[in-house]
Amino acid sequence: MNKGLIFVISGPAGSGKGTVVAALRKLIPELGFSVSATTRAPRPGEVDGENYFFVSRDSFEELLRNDEVLEHTNYCGNMYGTLKCEAERVLTEGRDLILEIEVEGALNVKRLMPDDTVTIMLIAPDPEELEKRLRGRGTESEEVIKSRLSRASEELKLAPQYDYVVTNETGKTKECAEKIRGIIAAEHQRYSRMRSVVEEYIAYKK
Ligand code: 5GP
Repeated sequence: MNKGLIFVISGPAGSGKGTVVAALRKLIPELGFSVSATTRAPRPGEVDGENYFFVSRDSFEELLRNDEVLEHTNYCGNMYGTLKCEAERVLTEGRDLILEIEVEGALNVKRLMPDDTVTIMLIAPDPEELEKRLRGRGTESEEVIKSRLSRASEELKLAPQYDYVVTNETGKTKECAEKIRGIIAAEHQRYSRMRSVVEEYIAYKK
């Protein structure tokens, strides 16, 4: 019986996480995604129920009180959380679930469901390239760029707790998504997940 696994993808600003996840979605259309709840205001073009469920702080707290949130975090002053109903919707269909969440939430999901969760940290190929990408946006002040770079190195200190680290080379989004596709395929063939098939052979009597 094919059981859905949870693949958690995290990556600091400039890692290209959003673009890679979009490429992965094209590559494996049957992947499931969960829409998170957040208290941050929608950005132009973002759609409620598609990008996020945009909720008030009170509503978010009610979700927490009602035990409807799998994991949550406070990121830069706003609350973000994975809804249990969203994750269950995908997993009960036997589909793999991709969660694109920050490091604290990622490690919490792994702690809650260690056997079914695979964590992937996405990074730029090197710190110089990361700085170039952040500067390339041309919209941020020197101070913001410095704080993002230092936050990136803080986040990378948690990389030893991740199962995989994948580099996203500039201009090679598709190759990066292919690497993640390889991880997804391999994780399903682990002995621990194939055990029942093997045991069926062992118990088989002619
Ligand atoms: P943004 O405001 O740019 O959409 O997201 C900010 C950060 O929050 C990103 O690192 C994103 O991956 C993370 N994030 C989005 N949804 C969730 C969630 O449900 N839980 C956690 N822990 N992080 C989330």
